[in-house]
Amino acid sequence: MTHTTDGRRTAIVTGAARGIGAAVARRLAREGFAVGVVDLDEADCADTVEAVVGAGGSATAVAADVSDEAAVASAVARIAAELGPPTVLVNNAGIGPRAELVEMTTRQWDTVTGVNLRGPFLVTRAVCPHMIAAGWGRIVNMSSISAVGDAARVDYGSAKAGLIGFTKSLALQLGRHGITANAIAPGFVVSDMTRASARRLGRDFEEFRSSAARSIPVGRVGEPEDIAHTVSFLVSPDAGFVSGQVIYVAGGPVD
Ligand code: NAP
Repeated sequence: MTHTTDGRRTAIVTGAARGIGAAVARRLAREGFAVGVVDLDEADCADTVEAVVGAGGSATAVAADVSDEAAVASAVARIAAELGPPTVLVNNAGIGPRAELVEMTTRQWDTVTGVNLRGPFLVTRAVCPHMIAAGWGRIVNMSSISAVGDAARVDYGSAKAGLIGFTKSLALQLGRHGITANAIAPGFVVSDMTRASARRLGRDFEEFRSSAARSIPVGRVGEPEDIAHTVSFLVSPDAGFVSGQVIYVAGGPVD
């Protein structure tokens, strides 16, 4: 599924079939990027591709599990061939199932850290040569407020904290190539992920959402567009002096 337009810069957004990733893809398309839409199932990317193309942009949808080294290498190669070398990368794909530590299988730990931490490593490693060749790049990693601790998900909290260390290390190593790396740590954002959390807890989503909003200083939960707006700032040319930072987009401070 490919729609190309010449003369655009290329961004890759993982986990872009829905939720935050889809909003980021739409926003970057509006700003003139051709967008490589990566998700587990190519058919699931159709709505995002349609929205990008409907807005006059270009998109290629590619199926890849971000924790699969070979799939990532071929997805990045295909996007580079079809849309041009990617110089913006948003490592957004993530999963966050719940399990008590004593019930957590080793397989769950490996899967959750595999998608949330190994995935960004694999995709960044594959995309980085294009950024180095261009002498310019922007990497945005989707962490979470869970990085400071998550009572329900030790695997997820650990991976999202690791992602912050990864981000700062990338910033240190790649700055000399004109590449910045930053992390966004969202709080509660309306998406299938938070809907699934409500379901798992046996709670009605609207009640779950309004109860979360009551504990957020600005009095509401986040929308995917709140995160897309922050991505837009971080990948802009004017944000070239912002690197190695974590931006909490959570409606209030996070300790
Ligand atoms: P979402 O609605 O569940 O969307 C995540 C997307 O990533 C889905 O399309 C999912 O595909 C895809 N994905 C899952 N595993 C993948 C893999 N191995 N390879 C490629 N794609 C994969 O989640 P979201 O709320 O938009 O979250 C996006 C990011 O923000 C995640 O990293 C999440 O941890 C982070 N975050 C979210 C919140 C929140 O409140 N929503 C808060 C903090 C941080 P399937 O649907 O087919 O599995």
